[in-house]
Amino acid sequence: MPETPRREHLLKVGVSGVRGVVGEFLTPSIAAAFAQAFGTYVGGGRVVVGRDTRASGEMLTHAVSCGLLAAGCDVVQVGVLPTPSIQVYVAATRARGGLAITASHNPPEYNALKLFNAQGLFFNNYERAELVDLYHQRTFRDARNDEIGGVTVERRDAARPHLERVLARVDAARIRARRFRVALDAVNGAGSLVTPHFLREDLGCDVEAIAVDPTQPFPRVAEPRPEVLGDLSDLVRRTRADIGFAQDPDGDRLAVADETGRVLDSDDVLALAVDVTLPHLPGDVVVNLTTSDVIDDVARRHGRQVHRTPVGEAHVVDGMLAVEAAIGGEGSNGGIILPAVHLCRDSYTGMALLLDRMAETGQTLSALAATLPGYTRRSGVVPFEHGRLGAAMQALDAAFPDARTDRTDGLKLRLPAGWIHVRASNTEPLLRISTEARDAATARMLFDRVGQLLG
Ligand code: MG
Repeated sequence: MPETPRREHLLKVGVSGVRGVVGEFLTPSIAAAFAQAFGTYVGGGRVVVGRDTRASGEMLTHAVSCGLLAAGCDVVQVGVLPTPSIQVYVAATRARGGLAITASHNPPEYNALKLFNAQGLFFNNYERAELVDLYHQRTFRDARNDEIGGVTVERRDAARPHLERVLARVDAARIRARRFRVALDAVNGAGSLVTPHFLREDLGCDVEAIAVDPTQPFPRVAEPRPEVLGDLSDLVRRTRADIGFAQDPDGDRLAVADETGRVLDSDDVLALAVDVTLPHLPGDVVVNLTTSDVIDDVARRHGRQVHRTPVGEAHVVDGMLAVEAAIGGEGSNGGIILPAVHLCRDSYTGMALLLDRMAETGQTLSALAATLPGYTRRSGVVPFEHGRLGAAMQALDAAFPDARTDRTDGLKLRLPAGWIHVRASNTEPLLRISTEARDAATARMLFDRVGQLLG
């Protein structure tokens, strides 16, 4: 499978903001112009700017700050900070909005701007469409000399408002009393400093950490998929840890290893978080279309419904707002969203919920995971080509005439034996294929069949 995406896709203005390869497509001038459009859109005032640890982060902080100042904003730079912490900080300090300079789980040569409104929420489709129009029309506000504001560098612990909200959702004293041994892989990302401190000081854990140097490059693939977390598994086994956590570079995604070093499927991690949360909070569950049916099984235990949205945090958050959900997320990529903390994907909430469950029950993580119904999922990608998507979807539809279809995001086919979901990635020029069934053979059969049909 080719690793090099087609060039015309390398700058993407999408649901997650603006994203591209730095130096080729995402340049300082584009970042400054986009930030000036953002500053115009929010109407001046204080705007928070934070970043992950990518090499281009410092440069883009300057570019983005420049664009915001040009639009008449005051800039609050919080430096290297996890994305959920930036989002809570925006809301807690009543800023007009925020920008996180991070390409999240994408490779290190990428960078991107994630856009937040005054509530610290991802821009919704409506806000984003208006902003993108403004960007293309270049109708920016140009502050006059006497209107130009300044830059404040926040030197206190800007993660604190976020972490306090997480701690309020769990019995921190009960977790501290257990003195869990926790292995951590922060991928040298934005969690490098915040996460060890959170686990040690706030939750009383004995932390064994790798990849917690924010000055160094990512030592593994940025997306915390099970197959790239061998070092974390080894660390868990070598240090006899109770649990292992891996974050992505901006600290919103979480992967979890049990005490044997086995990395759990991220759908199962979300299912455990849902199971912990529903007894304590009213409301349904919202997940994306690629998330496992295990969530439906767990929600049913608590008499709740599951609602599905297109893939992408902004879509899930919109869905959660619409039904006032108790919890939500994207199982397929390690995203847990607990509105009682903040309506954002948050690895810190995930860590705290799992440790709290282990403290409450006295059970190991593998024992807790074993209580979940078993499903097998398969996923993969094929390169996306212009003009090919419509025909491919029709071929799929025709090949499974008995399936219930959902076209909210690509094509989801629900069959008696399981489901198939094929969609174009929001962030990369790829088609993503996922299948799920109760047994491995059926999941593989469905996956292979789709692979053949899509060539
Ligand atoms: Mg991320």
